[in-house]
Order: sequence, then structure tokens, then C-alpha cells
Amino acid sequence: MKRIFSGVKPTGHLTLGNYIGAVRKWVEEDQHRADALFCVVDLHALTVDHDPARLRRLSRQAASLLLAAGLDPERCVLFVQSHVDEHARLSYLLECTATDGEMRRMVQYKEKAARERERGGSVRLSLLTYPVLMAADILAYGTDEVPVGDDQTQHVELTRDLAVRFNQRYGHTFTVPRATHPAVGARVMNLQDPSVKMGKSDDTGPGIVYLLDEPDTVRRKVMRAVTDSGRDVVYDREGRPGLANLLDVLAVSTGAGDPAELAAGYSSYGALKRDVADAVVELLRPVRERHAELVADPAYVDGVLRAGAERARALARPVVDRAYRAVGLVPAA
Ligand code: ATP
Ligand code: MG
Repeated sequence: MKRIFSGVKPTGHLTLGNYIGAVRKWVEEDQHRADALFCVVDLHALTVDHDPARLRRLSRQAASLLLAAGLDPERCVLFVQSHVDEHARLSYLLECTATDGEMRRMVQYKEKAARERERGGSVRLSLLTYPVLMAADILAYGTDEVPVGDDQTQHVELTRDLAVRFNQRYGHTFTVPRATHPAVGARVMNLQDPSVKMGKSDDTGPGIVYLLDEPDTVRRKVMRAVTDSGRDVVYDREGRPGLANLLDVLAVSTGAGDPAELAAGYSSYGALKRDVADAVVELLRPVRERHAELVADPAYVDGVLRAGAERARALARPVVDRAYRAVGLVPAA
């Protein structure tokens, strides 16, 4: 059976981008066809300025939303990263495998560090090293596939490089994983600025649809989405990115498949936006409803996370112990 691992970080409220680019595929495909683990990667949320109480709230909320979206604890393992020590243990060995130069080339580091400096903040060292922690998250489980949005491709490539390098130096230890992406919607763009991806830690509210937004809010955001000049409705990701983004979202939300074919059915932006708004409201409705039920039952969510951490620990422990032995560390007696 294939092993799958992926995660979300509790840096903000989950967005339509997270859902369409990652979570939906975990729910509908990945948990059914493989031995799958999904993780609230809370340690990654410490790489930028954070408030402890908010982090705690967002971590619980992310776990509840993943369950509300349809992750089934009978079919997959759902847990919180910081509950399993193996991630941090392995991360250090991978810091001793990665180079300073390759970390500084990471696009997300460059972008997020620049943004942090613009705000007048300081850049945490962990922002530079977090892709190594992400590699540890993945490699600790002997992962074959990592279902992610396409902004994570570079980090999964780094993970592959580190696995190969480690295996060459110290003998075969890690499975070399590969990234998988949804056919449509692997990069949902910000509705107000279709040149940047929709991201949960960005603070341009109206361009970001959150999974817990009320239907009226969703409608307002979609109706105000920035579209491109031109009146005809065609699918052109390069030339008409705002329009293509709406068509992608519509294709995924209605299950229609091909956004280019959908374009042919519209002669105005207004009609398209109305259909997108309706489709997104319907897509998110069951998630919001189920989330409200789960919020009322925190003991259930805690129980799922406790059991998930136990199962995850049992899988990661032997892999990480093997890596410790392989690099020459003396096993504890
Ligand atoms: P942050 O801004 O804090 O990085 P994020 O919205 O990028 O938050 P992550 O927790 O980094 O969320 O990513 C969780 C998953 O969602 C990853 O698989 C990522 O590739 C995917 N993802 C994030 N944003 C988008 C998007 N706009 N479109 C498609 N997939 C996305
Ligand atoms: Mg991200």
C-alpha cells in the first residue's frame, strides 16, 4: 500500500485555496487509496510572528475543519505535528544534510522574508530552515506521495534531494517521495490580485475566501473579484488570470472538470461570477455545518488527535531511529 503524507499549518483560517489545492483531494481520493497521514503542522506556524493563544485556537480549528471536510479517522491518521517528537528529531539530521545555499534558494523563504522585513519585523532563523522540518515530516513516514498545491513543489523537490543524498552517504534509509497535485485548482489565486496565490496568512481579506465565511461574505467576495479587461469569456491563464481563476474554481466546485469548456457557456462576467458564488457557497456549506457540530464536541476532536499521534509515533519512531544509527550516533542502551 502506498504511503501518503501532507499537512496544513495553523497560521490563519483555512482558505478556499487550501481546500481546492489540497484538502479536497485528501478527502475524496487520497484517504481511500492509500495509507494516509494528515497533519496540523503547528511547529511550522512558529516560523513567523505568532500569538500563542491564537496558535492554539487555530490548531484546534484546523483539525476540526479537516474532519468537517471529510477526513475519516477510520481511513487515515490525523494528528498534530508537535505531538510527535520524531519530526523535530529527524529535522536536525536533515539540517546536517542540507546546505546553507540550497535553503537560501527557496522561493517561499525569499518571499516571506521580504514581506517580514517590509513590515519592519525580524526574520526568524526557523523561516530559513523550515523546509528541512517539512522534509522530516515527510521522510519520517516512508512517504511515497505528498499531495499539495503547486506552491509546495520546490519544497518536495528539496525533500527528494535530501533523501537521495542521505541514502547515498549513509545507506538506504528513506523512501524518495514525489509531489502530487489536483488536475485543476493546484494554485488558486487571490480574488483581488490574481498575480498572487490565495494564502491564509496574507492580510488582504476581500481577496481570500475562508472556509468558515458566511454565504453572504462568500458571495460578496466573489462578485467583487478583480477580472481582466476584455468582455468575452475565454480560458487563458497567462493573458486573463483573474478570469481563469474563477473558471478553475467553478470547474472544481461543480465537478464540471474542464474550465476551458465551461468558458464557452458564458457571454458575460456577471453571469459567471453569480454561478461561481453559488457553487462555492454550496461547496462550503456542508463543511461549515459539520464544523459547527464538531466545535460543540471538543472531546471527540481531542480523542481523534490523541489516537492519531499514537499511530503516527509508532510509524515514525523506527524510521528515525534507523536514521540516527545510520549517521553514526550511538544507540541509547
Ligand atoms: P501560509 O500563507 O501560512 O503559507 P497557505 O494558505 O499557503 O498558508 P499552507 O498551510 O502553507 O497554507 O498550505 C497547506 C496546503 O494548501 C499546501 O498543500 C499548499 O500547497 C496548499 N495551498 C495553499 N495555498 C493554496 C492555493 N492558493 N491554491 C492551491 N493550493 C494551496
Ligand atoms: Mg503556504
